[in-house]
Amino acid sequence: MDNLEDLYQEIILSHNKRPRNEGELTPHNHEAEGYNPLCGDRLKIYVQQDGPKVEAVKFTGEGCAISRASASIMTEAIKGLSGAELEAKIHEVVEMLTAKEEPEVDPFEIGELAALLGVRKFPARVKCATLAWHTLEAALKNENRVSTE
Ligand code: ZN
Repeated sequence: MDNLEDLYQEIILSHNKRPRNEGELTPHNHEAEGYNPLCGDRLKIYVQQDGPKVEAVKFTGEGCAISRASASIMTEAIKGLSGAELEAKIHEVVEMLTAKEEPEVDPFEIGELAALLGVRKFPARVKCATLAWHTLEAALKNENRVSTE
């Protein structure tokens, strides 16, 4: 189990150091800013949808390694999704991170998202991991600002 945790740690650190899809997205038709006052994380998520389908998503912002890694992993996990699929993915990840019961997930099926599961042991950090996802949800609903508190 320790090896798996080390691997997850490595995934988080690697995404923090070399985030995928960091920067402003032009053009974009949705954007929102998310703030987690508990930790001081600030993220801005930009989404370009072509019809219901997510064509591209990028993020900017300052925050801890977990918040940035979560945003980076998210930009890869949701690309190409649309409508119900996209909503289900957001719900699934937030649920996986916040549910009281240990989630039953197949690490091979969820890929790098599994690395975020480590925060479940540190309740204060859960909001760092969910911030990007709540901000994405707000962007898609055209709500421009969201705070975890
Ligand atoms: Zn944080």
